[in-house]
Amino acid sequence: MSKILVVEDEPQIARFVELELKHEEYEAVTCGDGRQALEMIQKDTEEFDLVVLDIMLPGLNGLEVLRRLRKDGINIPVIMLTARDSVMDKVSGLDMGANDYLTKPFAIEELLARIRALLRAPKAENTNESDIIRYEDIVMDTAKHFVTVNDVPVDLTLKEFGLLQSLLENQSIVLTREQLLERVWGYDYFGETNVVDVYIRYVRSKLEEVSNRKYIQTVRGVGYKIGK
Ligand code: CA
Repeated sequence: MSKILVVEDEPQIARFVELELKHEEYEAVTCGDGRQALEMIQKDTEEFDLVVLDIMLPGLNGLEVLRRLRKDGINIPVIMLTARDSVMDKVSGLDMGANDYLTKPFAIEELLARIRALLRAPKAENTNESDIIRYEDIVMDTAKHFVTVNDVPVDLTLKEFGLLQSLLENQSIVLTREQLLERVWGYDYFGETNVVDVYIRYVRSKLEEVSNRKYIQTVRGVGYKIGK
């Protein structure tokens, strides 16, 4: 059973999240103070599988708790809760190594979905390195059919995954639309080649939802590539 620490000083929210987590058969522990939460995690880093961390907290704020955890090399998955429209908090949270964030008020289903995704993410120790392709902060596990950007899972369809995989396996090489069509759609595809452009757009927007970087470059008149 996964054990989740909920760090939130508003008792009603903390209680609500705790009950929902228990209902989903997680073990849930709540804490209303940043400094105390930091100590709980540092004391036994094996104890919790994930932390839901509010930013506005007494003791230490959530960003500071996160910064200190990461500085100590504690890589426990963290979902930050940010106030509505606080873009700065989101950016600093992700910069400091938060795995995901949710804006308050949030739907509990949304939180549960993010928790499931993070707990499902492959951990370094049970992953076969030969199945892993990396580029900057993109990590693709071809065996588990799983992609993360900056440790945040990205949900790609089969075709989108195939396109990204082709580009990642050929870093710095320009692939033409025809080459991408053959690799991803197969030789027997007789539709328009602009289907590649459409799917490249989907992949880009999904990657850019997580990170603002431009990973896939368009080489005009030729095709697409990843890498210099
Ligand atoms: Ca709070």
